[in-house]
Amino acid sequence: MIINGVRWKIRLVSPSHPMLLTPWKTHALGVCDKTTRTIYIDNTLYPTRIKDVIYHELVHAAMFSYGVDLSYEEEELVAEWTGTYGDEIFRLANIIYDGIHMK
Ligand SMILES: [Zn+2]
Repeated sequence: MIINGVRWKIRLVSPSHPMLLTPWKTHALGVCDKTTRTIYIDNTLYPTRIKDVIYHELVHAAMFSYGVDLSYEEEELVAEWTGTYGDEIFRLANIIYDGIHMK
């Protein structure tokens, strides 16, 4: 997958994978590693939850790829919000766009 010319890999991994361990010793559902440009996703999540986590991690990857420089808290807020509500907004935007285009 390429975002703004930056190639990213996505790996579905076991929840015990070391990349899913946070600095606070908790278990992350997904991690975007900017150093290796790899997104790690817990492979035991339900498909609908995996999609939300993919949205979340893709936001991190896109911000890095486009050079967006936010604080950790700001970036997490945008990523979490997009992961939770992005699908609904993009679905509605497509419905509106298709309605405009059909006229
Ligand atoms: Zn995050």
